[in-house]
Amino acid sequence: MERLRSLIRDVPDFPRPGIVFKDITLLLGDRIAFTAAVSALAEPYRDAGVDIVAGIESRGFILGGAVADRLGAGFALVRKEGRLPSTRISQAYSLEYGEAVIEMHADAIKPGERVLIVDDLLATGGTAGAAGALVDRLGGDIVGFAFLIELSALGGSAALGGRPYTALLRTNTDGGIA
Ligand code: AMP
Repeated sequence: MERLRSLIRDVPDFPRPGIVFKDITLLLGDRIAFTAAVSALAEPYRDAGVDIVAGIESRGFILGGAVADRLGAGFALVRKEGRLPSTRISQAYSLEYGEAVIEMHADAIKPGERVLIVDDLLATGGTAGAAGALVDRLGGDIVGFAFLIELSALGGSAALGGRPYTALLRTNTDGGIA
């Protein structure tokens, strides 16, 4: 965990003033840290009978694809609006200013499949909550949510509908990673 923590870079004022962006590219590029992160993300769900991992664009694709492989599960894409080619369902959610929309293919998940939702970071929970709503609408059974980082002060876990979630690293009150 110490190695993971040291490989997450804070980038102040990106992509907008006032946001401290948690840049995980150094972690992804480190073969020991990347393998350890994927193992730790997958571990709590090893015996959960996960059929399919739903990864949120774009860093959730990288981590979620690797977690799916580790769990012997399939992979479903949760993408930003307008990027999926076939018949899709959409879910809007609130941002600080305005709205965003994410989508899944209508046939990405079969009713009753056990789904693990993966993203790099939980902030306000809007994105992950909307991904959960898409999986619910497709009839998937959400086993849990797995994140690398939780910005705890934002209380985003409240948006996850009381379902299980795990985060490998949590920020403390001064914005550093605890
Ligand atoms: P939210 O919907 O507020 O929970 O935001 C989560 C999504 O936005 C995730 O897909 C993250 O990759 C991205 N995100 C939000 N805040 C940050 C941040 N401070 N650093 C890096 N990514 C972020």
